[in-house]
Amino acid sequence: MPYHRVLVTGGAGFIGSHLCERLLEQGHEVLCVDNFYTGRRTNVARLFSSPNFELMRHDITFPLYVEVDRIFNLACPASPIHYQFDPVQTTKTSVHGAINVLGLAKRVKARVLQASTSEVYGDPSVHPQTEDYNGNVNPIGPRACYDEGKRCAETLFFDYHRQHGLSIRVTRIFNTYGPRMLANDGRVVSNFIISALRGEPLTLYGSGTQTRSFCYVDDLVDGLIRLMDAPDDVTGPINLGNPHEITVTELAETVVRLTGSSSTFATHPLPADDPKQRQPDISLARETLGWAPKMPLEAGLRATIEYFRQEFELERIAG
Ligand code: NAD
Ligand code: UDP
Repeated sequence: MPYHRVLVTGGAGFIGSHLCERLLEQGHEVLCVDNFYTGRRTNVARLFSSPNFELMRHDITFPLYVEVDRIFNLACPASPIHYQFDPVQTTKTSVHGAINVLGLAKRVKARVLQASTSEVYGDPSVHPQTEDYNGNVNPIGPRACYDEGKRCAETLFFDYHRQHGLSIRVTRIFNTYGPRMLANDGRVVSNFIISALRGEPLTLYGSGTQTRSFCYVDDLVDGLIRLMDAPDDVTGPINLGNPHEITVTELAETVVRLTGSSSTFATHPLPADDPKQRQPDISLARETLGWAPKMPLEAGLRATIEYFRQEFELERIAG
């Protein structure tokens, strides 16, 4: 397997830390860049002993001068709580960040992959979502800083490709979960597991009939690496996610069952612009990358529950 010098922006975050780990296992050199907005040094602490790993504190809204031949651009808060906390910074991270990363890729002639999102489809009127669907995004709503930021980043990637011949990859990632999700980021999987472990009510927003499709992080990382390694004409956009679709209520029931919790459910208002349904069509990823997720939801949830149990135990010991 060829050896690469790989930059992972947002590498100390949830998905980024798993990606850094996998790239090191494959024998590559990894430069992890993060401003620690939602990322943590502890996510990559076990990698510090590797001579092929380097961690750099840097905000990608500012230019970056490093020498690499591959770039995964993951830097951006991904949960509504965090991306809505400072929406202007979120748009800057997506847009200025993309410009800086693309400028770097152009200078060093690196291949560059953008972690886009199913949020570019907004509240979709096409179901399941295929890559040729242009989406239904509210450009002035509370999710717009993220959705429109990511849409503009896609535009920049394709314009750098057409105008400057850059080798690009764009993937639209659907809801991903697993160990190292942030406990306080308000995402449904972590919220439900934490409430269930504490014996507190699980917070169902709206009727709980809205759907999502949850992909385990190891499967997603496999898809990201396959996309990066794919032949030069594979630019995407390409969906990566697990097509197994369930309602939020079904997820809550599953988490309660798997944790053996006595938690009840509490209904809360549905957040603004919350998509009613989401399910990836992954035909393109199957055909082009030979990729499909392998981890069944219950097994992935068990692994994630175990992670949060251990985190709680560490917190308890630390007092
Ligand atoms: P995360 O919040 O755990 O990771 C994002 C990382 O980017 C963090 O480490 C954060 O500190 C860093 N970061 C944020 N702004 C930065 C900046 N300006 N400069 C440098 N670093 C910065 O989120 P995640 O779930 O790991 O998501 C990673 C990527 O995948 C994001 O781009 C996100 O939009 C995308 N994505 C994730 C999901 C999901 O379900 N987790 C779904 C769709 C897309
Ligand atoms: N949700 C919920 N209870 C929670 C957190 C989220 O019912 O405690 C719902 C939320 O309204 C949405 C779905 O779960 O319909 C997924 O939310 P998340 O923030 O995880 O992801 P996204 O909305 O970005 O897909």
